[in-house]
Amino acid sequence: MLAEKERAEWLRQKANWTRLSAMTMTHHARLGHTGGDLSSADILTVLYLGGILRIDPARPDWPQRDRFILSKGHCSGAFYSTLASRGFFPLERLQTYMDSLSMLNGHPDRNKLPGVEANTGPLGHGLPIAVGAALAARMRKENWRVFVLTGDGELQEGSNWEAAMTAQHYGLDNLIVIVDRNRIQQGDFTEKTIRMEPLAERWSAFGFAVEEIDGHDTAALLGRFDRLPFQPGKPSCLIAHTIKGKGVSFAENQPSWHHGVPNDKQLAAAAVELGAEVGW
Ligand SMILES: [Mg+2]
Repeated sequence: MLAEKERAEWLRQKANWTRLSAMTMTHHARLGHTGGDLSSADILTVLYLGGILRIDPARPDWPQRDRFILSKGHCSGAFYSTLASRGFFPLERLQTYMDSLSMLNGHPDRNKLPGVEANTGPLGHGLPIAVGAALAARMRKENWRVFVLTGDGELQEGSNWEAAMTAQHYGLDNLIVIVDRNRIQQGDFTEKTIRMEPLAERWSAFGFAVEEIDGHDTAALLGRFDRLPFQPGKPSCLIAHTIKGKGVSFAENQPSWHHGVPNDKQLAAAAVELGAEVGW
């Protein structure tokens, strides 16, 4: 039991490292999406460092690997930090974020960076790609799984719901959609832009087995991802309730931090709040 607690605490600290790493990257580039990097950090950390994804950084193209697709491709700071932390490429490469000729573009590019499965950035594309990948596994009678992390605002794109219909039609229980439900999108709160609720009921109506979770509770996330699918024969949807800007008080729940980039003083304050040191 203690081991489980220690594992969850270790993951929490790693997620805070990822947060500071992402903020250091956006500070360097003077560009980025800090708020979503911070909201998604625990989910990414549990998947990659908590032993959930069956992957091998030494063999990024291993055919039997689980696939992870970051549909909210703008949150590349947290994603790249997580991939580097897991060993897909050297941590020092994070210093080149958005530099010209860097492999670390503002949005992930599968032709440049090991560990990236799909080019994302235009919203509403990750889930359709994930459904295709899950269907491919089914057709090949292979047992790898497909995880896709979407933003909440991006669910306003109709392509998601076409993909959801297809997933339920084929009973793709090797697919898990994780919604980073931070309640903020570019410009404003989701409910003031295009209302998302009742979100769980909507996924359920589209044939998914739906569960909700605290998206910052690493112990709960570990426990939930250890038992997939949620229901045999159905695709899974985990609505992860998160806080945009999580862990950095001046960024939490502030729509302006969707695109916010820290100045020198803010980066130093964030490091103190997160209790982390970047080290690259
Ligand atoms: Mg959002």
